[in-house]
Amino acid sequence: MEELAKKVALVTGANRGIGRVISIRLAQAGAQLVLAGRNQAGLEETARMIVELSTVDKLEPLICHMDLLDASSIDGAVKKALDLFGRIDILVNNSGITGKVAPLWEIGEQEWDETIDTNLKGPFLLTRAVIPSMLLRKSGSIVFIGSVTGKRPFMHRSVYAASKLGLVGMMRTLALELGSHGIRVNLISPGFVAGPRLEGVIDTVAEIEKISSEEAHSKMRAMIPIADFVSPENIAEGVLFLASDRSAGITGDDLNISGGLVMY
Ligand code: NDP
Repeated sequence: MEELAKKVALVTGANRGIGRVISIRLAQAGAQLVLAGRNQAGLEETARMIVELSTVDKLEPLICHMDLLDASSIDGAVKKALDLFGRIDILVNNSGITGKVAPLWEIGEQEWDETIDTNLKGPFLLTRAVIPSMLLRKSGSIVFIGSVTGKRPFMHRSVYAASKLGLVGMMRTLALELGSHGIRVNLISPGFVAGPRLEGVIDTVAEIEKISSEEAHSKMRAMIPIADFVSPENIAEGVLFLASDRSAGITGDDLNISGGLVMY
């Protein structure tokens, strides 16, 4: 029996990047996927990959339009999933933006609000919309994707750090509130995850420090005890663990998947 058989999992930002890899991994473990996001073509591509990679009969993933800056689209997506499946067992709040990369005093109010609204208010609205159905069944697993940023500060990332550490406080409080209802709440803090987003960061480091891209790569790897970036698959394995009954005794936890870049 597959680990997540009969479970329904909703993943935000499922159209690309880490969200796509998480979605595929949960589907491989037997979950029925609800792929949420703004980019229809990307969501369809993730759905196609899930169907193509499946080895046993799988239900087609459900695609739901969801813009975290639009409360009605969040409620609409949750309603669509609940109308079809009657339940959401696993919620993965993966979507996130870096926001303005600049010293704090150069960040505009709107830029601040957009990052906080996407990374913190959006997950609040979505999680709030999903919880009642979990409460009815007295079970569920909620996973937030945070970041090591802030626990380990990086230059010019104040708004991103504030949003991601805000998630930690929200997650811990929610774990306390939901523990007696059979619902677990955890967060993963990824370090440097290999992929296009990291390549952009490396290019910026190279530009600012006037070094080559290869030197910037080496410099960033040298910060990590395992001397390598983590992969989206590493993050997806963490999500699978926290979503499954293997982590039954864990709630309110902030799991670093960073190769040791951060250890607390
Ligand atoms: P990407 O930039 O590749 O993907 C971000 C995802 O978030 C996209 O699917 C994007 O959708 C979605 N998104 C952004 N804004 C909204 C919105 N308003 N409504 C709905 N969806 C939205 O990033 P990654 O895959 O690398 O990152 C995934 C998560 O992991 C993020 O929360 C990020 O902060 C976190 N993280 C990533 C690290 C890394 O090194 N990559 C390190 C630490 C944490 P769209 O395509 O429509 O823009």
